[in-house]
Amino acid sequence: MKYLFASCVLISCGLALSGCAGMQKPAFSTAEVQSLAISLDSSKMMAHLDAFQKIATNNGANRAVGTAGGLATAKYIMSEAKKAGLQPQMIAFENREKVVGQNIIVEIKGQNIDDAIVLGAHYDSVKSGPGINDNGSGTALLLELMHHLAQQKTAPKNTVYLAFWDSEEVGIAGSQAFVKKLSPEQLKHIKAYINVDMVGTKNPDIMIADATKSSVDEMEKMLKARGMSEADYKPLTDGLRAVPVHAGDLALEQELSKFFQQKGIKIKKDVSTLTASDTVPFLGKVPVASIILFNEQLKGDVLEFAPCYHQACDTTDWVDPNSLKLASEAILNLLSYLQNQ
Ligand SMILES: [Zn+2]
Repeated sequence: MKYLFASCVLISCGLALSGCAGMQKPAFSTAEVQSLAISLDSSKMMAHLDAFQKIATNNGANRAVGTAGGLATAKYIMSEAKKAGLQPQMIAFENREKVVGQNIIVEIKGQNIDDAIVLGAHYDSVKSGPGINDNGSGTALLLELMHHLAQQKTAPKNTVYLAFWDSEEVGIAGSQAFVKKLSPEQLKHIKAYINVDMVGTKNPDIMIADATKSSVDEMEKMLKARGMSEADYKPLTDGLRAVPVHAGDLALEQELSKFFQQKGIKIKKDVSTLTASDTVPFLGKVPVASIILFNEQLKGDVLEFAPCYHQACDTTDWVDPNSLKLASEAILNLLSYLQNQ
Protein backbone atom coordinates (compact mmCIF):
# COMPACT_ATOMS: atom_id res chain seq x y z
CA MET A 1 0.00 0.00 0.00
CA LYS A 2 1.17 3.50 -0.73
CA TYR A 3 -0.42 6.30 1.20
CA LEU A 4 -0.38 9.20 -1.24
CA PHE A 5 -2.31 11.48 1.05
CA ALA A 6 -0.17 10.64 4.03
CA SER A 7 0.61 14.29 4.73
CA CYS A 8 -3.07 14.95 5.10
CA VAL A 9 -3.51 12.26 7.70
CA LEU A 10 -0.36 13.38 9.46
CA ILE A 11 -1.62 16.93 9.71
CA SER A 12 -4.98 15.90 11.05
CA CYS A 13 -3.21 13.71 13.57
CA GLY A 14 -0.72 16.38 14.54
CA LEU A 15 -3.60 18.68 15.25
CA ALA A 16 -5.78 16.17 16.99
CA LEU A 17 -3.67 13.80 18.97
CA SER A 18 -6.61 12.81 21.11
CA GLY A 19 -8.47 11.85 17.96
CA CYS A 20 -5.55 9.69 16.94
CA ALA A 21 -5.34 8.02 20.30
CA GLY A 22 -9.00 7.19 19.84
CA MET A 23 -8.15 5.54 16.55
CA GLN A 24 -5.81 3.16 18.31
CA LYS A 25 -8.78 1.51 19.92
CA PRO A 26 -9.72 -1.45 17.77
CA ALA A 27 -13.07 -1.27 16.04
CA PHE A 28 -13.70 -4.82 17.22
CA SER A 29 -11.98 -7.52 19.12
CA THR A 30 -10.67 -9.96 16.55
CA ALA A 31 -11.15 -12.77 19.04
CA GLU A 32 -14.88 -12.11 18.91
CA VAL A 33 -15.29 -12.47 15.16
CA GLN A 34 -17.90 -15.08 14.61
CA SER A 35 -18.42 -16.91 11.43
CA LEU A 36 -21.86 -15.63 10.44
CA ALA A 37 -21.16 -15.59 6.72
CA ILE A 38 -19.10 -17.86 4.54
CA SER A 39 -15.44 -17.15 5.03
CA LEU A 40 -12.21 -18.49 3.63
CA ASP A 41 -9.96 -20.80 5.67
CA SER A 42 -7.65 -18.52 7.66
CA SER A 43 -5.14 -21.32 8.33
CA LYS A 44 -4.71 -21.77 4.58
CA MET A 45 -4.25 -18.02 4.15
CA MET A 46 -1.63 -18.11 6.94
CA ALA A 47 0.13 -20.99 5.15
CA HIS A 48 0.51 -18.76 2.05
CA LEU A 49 1.95 -16.05 4.29
CA ASP A 50 4.44 -18.54 5.74
CA ALA A 51 5.47 -19.38 2.18
CA PHE A 52 5.94 -15.67 1.34
CA GLN A 53 7.95 -15.22 4.52
CA LYS A 54 10.21 -18.12 3.53
CA ILE A 55 10.62 -16.70 0.01
CA ALA A 56 11.72 -13.36 1.47
CA THR A 57 14.09 -14.99 3.96
CA ASN A 58 15.76 -16.96 1.16
CA ASN A 59 15.98 -13.98 -1.22
CA GLY A 60 17.50 -10.98 0.52
CA ALA A 61 14.61 -10.39 2.96
CA ASN A 62 12.16 -8.88 0.46
CA ARG A 63 9.83 -9.73 -2.43
CA ALA A 64 10.15 -6.47 -4.38
CA VAL A 65 9.45 -6.06 -8.09
CA GLY A 66 12.24 -7.39 -10.32
CA THR A 67 14.04 -9.20 -7.49
CA ALA A 68 14.53 -12.93 -6.93
CA GLY A 69 11.98 -12.74 -4.09
CA GLY A 70 9.46 -11.05 -6.38
CA LEU A 71 9.90 -13.66 -9.09
CA ALA A 72 9.69 -16.51 -6.57
CA THR A 73 6.39 -15.04 -5.34
CA ALA A 74 5.09 -14.88 -8.92
CA LYS A 75 6.08 -18.50 -9.43
CA TYR A 76 4.26 -19.48 -6.24
CA ILE A 77 1.05 -17.75 -7.40
CA MET A 78 1.31 -19.41 -10.84
CA SER A 79 1.71 -22.84 -9.27
CA GLU A 80 -1.27 -22.28 -6.91
CA ALA A 81 -3.44 -21.30 -9.89
CA LYS A 82 -2.37 -24.41 -11.80
CA LYS A 83 -3.06 -26.53 -8.71
CA ALA A 84 -6.60 -25.12 -8.78
CA GLY A 85 -6.92 -26.33 -12.37
CA LEU A 86 -6.83 -22.81 -13.82
CA GLN A 87 -4.72 -21.25 -16.53
CA PRO A 88 -2.97 -18.20 -15.15
CA GLN A 89 -1.53 -15.60 -17.49
CA MET A 90 1.70 -13.80 -16.73
CA ILE A 91 1.88 -10.38 -18.33
CA ALA A 92 5.16 -8.44 -18.24
CA PHE A 93 5.36 -4.64 -18.07
CA GLU A 94 7.99 -2.05 -17.28
CA ASN A 95 7.76 0.38 -14.37
CA ARG A 96 9.11 3.94 -14.18
CA GLU A 97 12.49 2.63 -13.03
CA LYS A 98 12.67 0.43 -16.14
CA VAL A 99 12.31 -2.66 -13.97
CA VAL A 100 10.22 -5.45 -15.50
CA GLY A 101 7.27 -6.56 -13.41
CA GLN A 102 4.90 -9.48 -13.88
CA ASN A 103 1.14 -9.24 -13.41
CA ILE A 104 -0.66 -12.54 -13.01
CA ILE A 105 -4.25 -12.71 -14.21
CA VAL A 106 -6.47 -15.69 -13.47
CA GLU A 107 -9.80 -16.06 -15.22
CA ILE A 108 -12.73 -17.99 -13.76
CA LYS A 109 -15.23 -18.15 -16.56
CA GLY A 110 -18.79 -17.24 -15.69
CA GLN A 111 -22.09 -18.33 -17.13
CA ASN A 112 -22.32 -14.86 -18.61
CA ILE A 113 -18.95 -14.19 -20.17
CA ASP A 114 -19.87 -10.65 -21.21
CA ASP A 115 -19.62 -9.06 -17.77
CA ALA A 116 -16.72 -9.41 -15.41
CA ILE A 117 -15.83 -8.67 -11.81
CA VAL A 118 -12.16 -7.97 -11.18
CA LEU A 119 -10.55 -8.49 -7.78
CA GLY A 120 -6.97 -7.35 -7.29
CA ALA A 121 -4.16 -7.44 -4.76
CA HIS A 122 -0.53 -6.46 -5.18
CA TYR A 123 1.96 -9.20 -4.40
CA ASP A 124 5.17 -7.18 -4.45
CA SER A 125 6.75 -5.89 -1.25
CA VAL A 126 8.89 -2.84 -0.69
CA LYS A 127 12.66 -3.44 -0.76
CA SER A 128 12.91 -2.75 2.94
CA GLY A 129 10.89 -5.71 4.13
CA PRO A 130 9.16 -9.01 3.37
CA GLY A 131 5.72 -7.35 2.97
CA ILE A 132 3.70 -9.98 4.74
CA ASN A 133 0.78 -7.78 5.77
CA ASP A 134 1.51 -5.33 2.92
CA ASN A 135 0.45 -7.11 0.84
CA GLY A 136 1.07 -10.82 1.29
CA SER A 137 -2.22 -10.72 3.21
CA GLY A 138 -4.34 -9.54 0.27
CA THR A 139 -2.50 -11.95 -2.02
CA ALA A 140 -3.21 -14.86 0.34
CA LEU A 141 -6.88 -13.88 0.52
CA LEU A 142 -7.13 -13.79 -3.27
CA LEU A 143 -5.35 -17.18 -3.58
CA GLU A 144 -7.88 -18.78 -1.24
CA LEU A 145 -10.74 -17.05 -3.05
CA MET A 146 -9.35 -18.55 -6.26
CA HIS A 147 -9.36 -22.07 -4.76
CA HIS A 148 -12.86 -21.50 -3.35
CA LEU A 149 -14.26 -20.37 -6.72
CA ALA A 150 -12.46 -23.12 -8.64
CA GLN A 151 -14.05 -25.75 -6.38
CA GLN A 152 -17.63 -24.61 -7.00
CA LYS A 153 -19.76 -27.08 -8.99
CA THR A 154 -21.39 -24.35 -11.04
CA ALA A 155 -19.62 -21.48 -12.75
CA PRO A 156 -20.14 -18.02 -11.24
CA LYS A 157 -22.81 -15.89 -12.94
CA ASN A 158 -20.28 -13.35 -14.18
CA THR A 159 -16.69 -14.06 -15.11
CA VAL A 160 -14.29 -13.33 -12.26
CA TYR A 161 -10.75 -12.12 -12.87
CA LEU A 162 -8.26 -12.38 -10.05
CA ALA A 163 -5.42 -9.95 -10.61
CA PHE A 164 -2.15 -10.33 -8.74
CA TRP A 165 -0.41 -7.02 -9.38
CA ASP A 166 3.32 -6.43 -9.35
CA SER A 167 5.12 -3.11 -8.68
CA GLU A 168 2.38 -1.44 -6.66
CA GLU A 169 5.10 -0.25 -4.32
CA VAL A 170 6.87 1.39 -7.27
CA GLY A 171 4.39 3.67 -9.00
CA ILE A 172 1.26 1.47 -8.77
CA ALA A 173 2.67 0.27 -12.09
CA GLY A 174 1.20 -3.20 -12.59
CA SER A 175 -2.46 -2.22 -12.35
CA GLN A 176 -1.78 0.94 -14.41
CA ALA A 177 -0.23 -1.13 -17.20
CA PHE A 178 -3.23 -3.47 -17.15
CA VAL A 179 -5.90 -0.75 -17.25
CA LYS A 180 -4.04 1.15 -19.98
CA LYS A 181 -4.56 -1.80 -22.31
CA LEU A 182 -8.31 -2.06 -21.73
CA SER A 183 -10.58 -0.60 -24.41
CA PRO A 184 -13.57 1.60 -23.43
CA GLU A 185 -15.77 -1.34 -24.46
CA GLN A 186 -13.92 -3.72 -22.11
CA LEU A 187 -14.13 -1.20 -19.27
CA LYS A 188 -17.89 -0.95 -19.81
CA HIS A 189 -18.20 -4.66 -19.11
CA ILE A 190 -16.37 -4.57 -15.78
CA LYS A 191 -19.10 -4.56 -13.12
CA ALA A 192 -16.63 -3.74 -10.36
CA TYR A 193 -13.01 -3.60 -9.33
CA ILE A 194 -12.44 -4.71 -5.73
CA ASN A 195 -9.07 -4.00 -4.16
CA VAL A 196 -7.66 -5.98 -1.27
CA ASP A 197 -4.64 -4.51 0.52
CA MET A 198 -3.28 -5.01 4.05
CA VAL A 199 -6.04 -7.20 5.41
CA GLY A 200 -4.10 -9.05 8.12
CA THR A 201 -3.66 -6.13 10.52
CA LYS A 202 -4.17 -6.86 14.21
CA ASN A 203 -6.82 -4.82 16.07
CA PRO A 204 -7.67 -2.93 12.93
CA ASP A 205 -9.61 0.16 12.01
CA ILE A 206 -11.56 -0.93 8.98
CA MET A 207 -11.30 1.58 6.19
CA ILE A 208 -13.54 1.44 3.18
CA ALA A 209 -13.71 3.79 0.23
CA ASP A 210 -15.86 6.88 0.76
CA ALA A 211 -17.79 7.28 -2.48
CA THR A 212 -19.76 10.34 -1.38
CA LYS A 213 -16.60 12.00 -0.01
CA SER A 214 -18.53 13.04 3.10
CA SER A 215 -15.36 12.32 5.08
CA VAL A 216 -13.69 15.25 3.28
CA ASP A 217 -16.37 17.64 4.59
CA GLU A 218 -15.77 16.29 8.08
CA MET A 219 -12.01 16.65 7.69
CA GLU A 220 -12.45 20.23 6.50
CA LYS A 221 -14.69 21.07 9.47
CA MET A 222 -12.20 19.54 11.86
CA LEU A 223 -9.22 21.39 10.36
CA LYS A 224 -11.16 24.67 10.44
CA ALA A 225 -12.19 24.12 14.05
CA ARG A 226 -8.55 23.57 14.94
CA GLY A 227 -7.57 26.91 13.49
CA MET A 228 -6.01 25.86 10.21
CA SER A 229 -6.33 28.51 7.53
CA GLU A 230 -8.24 27.83 4.35
CA ALA A 231 -5.07 28.34 2.31
CA ASP A 232 -3.45 25.49 4.24
CA TYR A 233 -6.21 22.90 4.18
CA LYS A 234 -7.69 23.66 0.78
CA PRO A 235 -4.99 21.95 -1.32
CA LEU A 236 -5.54 18.78 0.73
CA THR A 237 -9.31 18.76 0.67
CA ASP A 238 -9.47 19.89 -2.98
CA GLY A 239 -7.10 17.05 -3.89
CA LEU A 240 -9.37 14.51 -2.22
CA ARG A 241 -12.50 16.00 -3.80
CA ALA A 242 -10.83 15.77 -7.23
CA VAL A 243 -10.40 12.00 -6.91
CA PRO A 244 -12.51 10.62 -9.79
CA VAL A 245 -15.67 8.71 -8.89
CA HIS A 246 -17.99 6.39 -10.77
CA ALA A 247 -21.77 6.32 -10.36
CA GLY A 248 -21.46 2.67 -9.33
CA ASP A 249 -19.06 3.30 -6.42
CA LEU A 250 -21.76 4.18 -3.90
CA ALA A 251 -23.69 0.91 -4.10
CA LEU A 252 -20.49 -1.02 -3.35
CA GLU A 253 -19.66 1.23 -0.41
CA GLN A 254 -23.18 0.78 0.96
CA GLU A 255 -22.99 -2.99 0.61
CA LEU A 256 -19.65 -3.13 2.44
CA SER A 257 -20.94 -0.76 5.15
CA LYS A 258 -24.03 -2.91 5.62
CA PHE A 259 -21.91 -6.03 6.06
CA PHE A 260 -19.83 -4.50 8.86
CA GLN A 261 -22.85 -2.82 10.45
CA GLN A 262 -24.66 -6.14 10.68
CA LYS A 263 -21.68 -7.52 12.54
CA GLY A 264 -21.64 -4.52 14.84
CA ILE A 265 -18.20 -3.51 13.61
CA LYS A 266 -17.31 0.16 13.31
CA ILE A 267 -15.84 1.28 10.01
CA LYS A 268 -14.09 4.38 8.82
CA LYS A 269 -14.86 5.83 5.43
CA ASP A 270 -11.89 7.44 3.82
CA VAL A 271 -11.31 8.79 0.33
CA SER A 272 -7.58 8.22 0.82
CA THR A 273 -8.06 4.45 0.62
CA LEU A 274 -8.86 4.99 -3.06
CA THR A 275 -5.65 6.84 -3.81
CA ALA A 276 -3.44 4.54 -1.81
CA SER A 277 -3.36 1.35 -3.82
CA ASP A 278 -4.20 -0.35 -7.11
CA THR A 279 -7.65 1.27 -7.14
CA VAL A 280 -6.04 4.39 -8.69
CA PRO A 281 -6.06 3.37 -12.39
CA PHE A 282 -9.67 2.13 -12.14
CA LEU A 283 -11.13 5.28 -10.52
CA GLY A 284 -13.97 6.88 -12.45
CA LYS A 285 -13.74 4.18 -15.12
CA VAL A 286 -15.53 1.30 -13.37
CA PRO A 287 -17.30 0.94 -10.00
CA VAL A 288 -14.57 0.56 -7.39
CA ALA A 289 -14.52 -0.80 -3.84
CA SER A 290 -11.57 -0.97 -1.49
CA ILE A 291 -10.90 -2.50 1.88
CA ILE A 292 -7.82 -1.83 3.96
CA LEU A 293 -7.28 -2.70 7.63
CA PHE A 294 -5.23 -0.08 9.43
CA ASN A 295 -3.96 0.22 12.93
CA GLU A 296 -2.58 3.73 12.94
CA GLN A 297 -0.12 4.68 15.65
CA LEU A 298 1.92 7.82 16.04
CA LYS A 299 5.55 6.80 16.65
CA GLY A 300 7.40 9.98 17.48
CA ASP A 301 6.74 12.19 14.46
CA VAL A 302 5.93 9.31 12.17
CA LEU A 303 2.47 7.94 11.66
CA GLU A 304 2.60 4.20 11.14
CA PHE A 305 -0.42 2.91 9.24
CA ALA A 306 0.02 -0.53 10.74
CA PRO A 307 2.70 -2.08 12.94
CA CYS A 308 5.93 -2.53 10.95
CA TYR A 309 4.45 -0.89 7.84
CA HIS A 310 7.14 -0.96 5.09
CA GLN A 311 9.71 -2.30 7.53
CA ALA A 312 11.78 -5.46 7.92
CA CYS A 313 9.48 -6.50 10.77
CA ASP A 314 6.37 -6.72 8.52
CA THR A 315 6.34 -10.46 9.21
CA THR A 316 3.68 -13.07 10.02
CA ASP A 317 4.06 -12.08 13.70
CA TRP A 318 1.89 -9.03 13.04
CA VAL A 319 -0.82 -10.79 11.09
CA ASP A 320 -4.03 -11.84 12.82
CA PRO A 321 -5.81 -14.79 11.16
CA ASN A 322 -9.11 -13.35 12.45
CA SER A 323 -8.55 -10.17 10.46
CA LEU A 324 -7.92 -12.24 7.32
CA LYS A 325 -11.07 -14.21 8.01
CA LEU A 326 -13.19 -11.11 8.54
CA ALA A 327 -11.88 -9.47 5.37
CA SER A 328 -12.59 -12.65 3.42
CA GLU A 329 -16.19 -12.64 4.65
CA ALA A 330 -16.59 -9.03 3.56
CA ILE A 331 -15.16 -9.78 0.12
CA LEU A 332 -17.26 -12.94 -0.37
CA ASN A 333 -20.35 -11.01 0.68
CA LEU A 334 -19.61 -8.22 -1.82
CA LEU A 335 -18.88 -10.74 -4.55
CA SER A 336 -22.16 -12.56 -4.03
CA TYR A 337 -24.02 -9.22 -4.03
CA LEU A 338 -22.37 -8.34 -7.36
CA GLN A 339 -23.08 -11.73 -8.88
CA ASN A 340 -26.77 -11.19 -8.20
CA GLN A 341 -26.97 -7.71 -9.74
ZN1 LIG B 1 2.88 -0.78 0.80
